[in-house]
Amino acid sequence: ESLDKGLEKSKTSFFNKLSKAVVGKSRVDDEVLDELEEVLVTSDVGVETTLKVISRIEERVSRDKYVGTEELDRILREEIAGLLAETHTGNATEFELPDSKKPYVIMVVGVNGVGKTTTIGKMAYQFEKQGKKVVLGAADTFRAAAIDQLQIWADRVGVPLIKQKMGSDPASVAYDSLSAAVAQDADVVLIDTAGRLHNKVNLMNELSKIKRVMQKVLPDAPHEVLLVLDGSTGQNAFEQARQFTKATEVTSLAVTKLDGTAKGGVVIGISDQFRIPVKYIGVGEGIEDLQVFNKFEFVDSFFS
Ligand code: GDP
Repeated sequence: ESLDKGLEKSKTSFFNKLSKAVVGKSRVDDEVLDELEEVLVTSDVGVETTLKVISRIEERVSRDKYVGTEELDRILREEIAGLLAETHTGNATEFELPDSKKPYVIMVVGVNGVGKTTTIGKMAYQFEKQGKKVVLGAADTFRAAAIDQLQIWADRVGVPLIKQKMGSDPASVAYDSLSAAVAQDADVVLIDTAGRLHNKVNLMNELSKIKRVMQKVLPDAPHEVLLVLDGSTGQNAFEQARQFTKATEVTSLAVTKLDGTAKGGVVIGISDQFRIPVKYIGVGEGIEDLQVFNKFEFVDSFFS
């Protein structure tokens, strides 16, 4: 069964689709470019970024006159790495937690079901393993399950969770969380928030109120607004990025559920289109299944 799964994934991988597009062709012509465009779009790179990549390759083809299909792989890697480099400085892009910003406040946003709670749990685990002192804040007070789930993760990792009862004011929970973090001399605070997209004005108001109230404790909080997106949902992830970037200033991304999908193209398209670096990718449900995003490894994995 696992072999079947592996095969299924490889059949739909970017690299396989690309190979099919160029089979029997010796040079990159309009037909190859059309196929390539389709491969990129169906890999969830997004139309805008796809057209950008295609036009860059067209430029190279018209400049160099003859571009063989065997070079296409290398050129594509270069172009995609180039796109990622525009939003990702350095290599791995771990949060640094500078002493001047202690506790480092990361407000985590995203719609329900994308893996927000899980990602917070995994991040807490990683920080804890690095010897950092972590405090969690359950400011998604809209659903009882959200608070319960976060409590399970807090217990698993062994970090304190600041919470109130369901329905209480999220900003008040955030205020308590920051106060507790300051009192406990914590290094990092992760604040969970509710992501109800159906009411955009509410979302915007709620997030700005949480920010405003946190700033009563720490004037420069939050230091990061991390948007969690489900990488297996393709165009939905783009739409959520659009909505959240309108509602608040998003500074970084976590893209989840990239295991079991060959559609990692979302990572390329979203970071390019919204000019926001990806900090983490989720590759499973387990506590260890969160990777600090590495653009070089990502480009390699996209092509293999
Ligand atoms: P939330 O509603 O956004 O807080 O979502 P949860 O954190 O509760 O996650 C929803 C579901 O997605 C759970 O079953 C998680 O185990 C699962 N999940 C989260 N991240 C990943 C991931 O990277 N890969 C996989 N396969 N599942 C994930």
